[in-house]
Amino acid sequence: MHAARQRLSAAITPIGSRERLALRSTLARVLAEDVVSPIDVPSHTNSAMDGYALRCADLTRGGTTVLDCVGTALAGGPYTGTAGPGQCVRIMTGAPLPAGTDTVVMQEQVTREGDRVQIDGEHRLGQNVRRAGEDLARGEAVLEAGRRLTAADLGLLGSLGRAELSVYRRPRVAFFSTGDELRSIGEPLGEGDVYDSNRYSLYGMLRRDGVELRDLGVVRDDPQLTREALRDAAAGSDVVITSGGVSVGEADYIKDVLTELGQVDFWKIAMKPGRPLTFGRVGGAWFFGLPGNPVSVMVTYYQFVRPALRRLMGESDTTPLTLPARCTSPLYKRPGRTEFQRGVLSTGPDGTLEVSRTGAQGSGILRSMSLANCFILLPEDSAGAEAGETVTVQPFQGLI
Ligand code: AMP
Ligand code: MG
Repeated sequence: MHAARQRLSAAITPIGSRERLALRSTLARVLAEDVVSPIDVPSHTNSAMDGYALRCADLTRGGTTVLDCVGTALAGGPYTGTAGPGQCVRIMTGAPLPAGTDTVVMQEQVTREGDRVQIDGEHRLGQNVRRAGEDLARGEAVLEAGRRLTAADLGLLGSLGRAELSVYRRPRVAFFSTGDELRSIGEPLGEGDVYDSNRYSLYGMLRRDGVELRDLGVVRDDPQLTREALRDAAAGSDVVITSGGVSVGEADYIKDVLTELGQVDFWKIAMKPGRPLTFGRVGGAWFFGLPGNPVSVMVTYYQFVRPALRRLMGESDTTPLTLPARCTSPLYKRPGRTEFQRGVLSTGPDGTLEVSRTGAQGSGILRSMSLANCFILLPEDSAGAEAGETVTVQPFQGLI
């Protein structure tokens, strides 16, 4: 498994070409430039609270101070004068700190009568004040090329006033399903037929990963049709993905066609589900031949295709997060293959993470994926786990 992953990442190099996009359109795209802050954020020292701006030195420690309120500072409406000794300024959150003041006391902590403001209690120099540049200082490195932009990043770039950014071009991916038994939605199911579900799970995963995709539908198990479909798929694509037809028995004609059109390796990976995987080049495109079973398609996509796509897209950090969790019931497994069982990760009664399996784990049982929110990773030499044992999980989603 590990060796296959390493071969993939060694073979694939980023596409590299870039495009400039408006800030909003860069969400989930990979940044192609290093961003340095052109300004201080915030640009001016300002109040973090509604209250009174004053000189801390005016406050009587442990006693009562009465100050004279000489004006108001609003966010977008600064106080233009200077507060002198014994004076304070009414201030709202986000308003620039008036000249002469260094501290803000919350409005809930003062008593006001006319322009007289009475302050008690303990206060600290600089409290409730946000310093200019405390979020980002001018000239500071903000985001590096190779980062997939999140909602927070969009906000951060907005705070710098960036209207456009350079991002890497999205890979063009063409995919199709193979199998004589496959029917498209809308067609009646004959004896032994199944609906083509891989087309939809692949569509979903590829869409989520932000590629440009071309869906070529179902191709019958026929050498000539497969040859034509592969030629068509490879034309103008960076990546071609197929599902089905790579297992022993069926593989022969596909092997011939693939060898004729490009160069591919047939891998028998010690993993479950998803043992057979074909990888190489067809025409000018990278080729992934995924197994046909619906769960195997998703597992091999997440474990091999996604990291490869991310590398193509120029993303620098592609290591998925894994966490330890206690399993609530025994997990059955024989040593020899890495298993990706499907689990539901939750917080147990004691506040720590626990994981349970999503029922039957057959590679054709897509419901096991649909119910899951994580993979349970059981290493090659593992012989399963007892209830209560700690196992490693890979969550499906995070906040982005
Ligand atoms: P194969 O790898 O072509 O031998 O397919 C393995 C199993 O997956 C068979 O039971 C196929 O019917 C099923 N299968 C293959 N492709 C699809 C698909 N696109 N949608 C649903 N099931 C599929
Ligand atoms: Mg097949």
